[in-house]
Amino acid sequence: MHSAPVALVTGASRGIGRGIAVALARAGYGVAINYAGNAAAAEECRRLCAATSPEGASTRFAPLQADISQAADRRRLVEETLRLFGRLDLLVNNAGVAPAVRADLLDASEESLDRLLAVNVKGPFFLTQLVARHWQETAKTWPAHGNRPKIVTISSISASTASVNRGDYCISKAALTMLTPLFAARLAELGVRVYEIRPGIIATDMTGPVKAKYDALIAGGLTPIRRWGAPEDVGRAVVAFATDAFPFTTGEVIHVDGGFHLRTL
Ligand code: NAP
Repeated sequence: MHSAPVALVTGASRGIGRGIAVALARAGYGVAINYAGNAAAAEECRRLCAATSPEGASTRFAPLQADISQAADRRRLVEETLRLFGRLDLLVNNAGVAPAVRADLLDASEESLDRLLAVNVKGPFFLTQLVARHWQETAKTWPAHGNRPKIVTISSISASTASVNRGDYCISKAALTMLTPLFAARLAELGVRVYEIRPGIIATDMTGPVKAKYDALIAGGLTPIRRWGAPEDVGRAVVAFATDAFPFTTGEVIHVDGGFHLRTL
């Protein structure tokens, strides 16, 4: 069993998930680096984590393939994490997908909504349930004092911002935002605290196709802080939650969006 705390980060091969994995590695965590299909990107994330970790040991970081929309994959993911590391202190529900085609609301398809709900909502909901059951079973062995497990879910400004060319994505992220209050209320008795991070416009493969559009919007003042967000911005917020920076809190949401959510007059 690892003596250092261990995080399972879904969708950690690229983008925001990779930024979270590296930030956790820097903070001394071992990381299960989940990915869907891009093994080379997951291996690169492992290398970056090992290079950043104070311990420097690549054995503390393991790429684990699993499609979080599939029940059997979710079970295998949790089992492999526990087999490899012997413990699990933090679940980060980060993996998510954008629609394959940005379709106007009046042309939106059932197929696209089904896909987005399966990956962005069903996956994190039932993965969290699996991990919560594990914690419920093992809670009696935890030391009386010390850092209790945490859950951090990565939603989006799209949970509360209407984009009429990807309504399916907005609906999936709005649904996901209920995960945090639900599990925060249910798991408080175990001492498990549950948080949401709501990122704004972050530079990743997901936003690559709309880079020019967002460059212009940001330059024009869309966000009070006039720059793109970086995966590391989200990673640092996850580390703050994970390392007990907010002890008497649960169910909280932090906007990592350069102030996009502010209403101004
Ligand atoms: P990204 O660059 O497209 O990376 C997506 C990650 O999720 C990859 O690691 C991918 O694995 C993994 N993934 C996709 N489907 C999966 C599945 N079914 N099972 C397991 N892993 C899966 O996306 P991103 O921009 O980093 O976004 C990460 C999260 O932040 C998403 O939930 C997204 O909705 C949210 N978000 C993003 C932004 C933004 O501006 N980028 C803003 C707000 C919220 P592979 O590498 O194997 O494909």
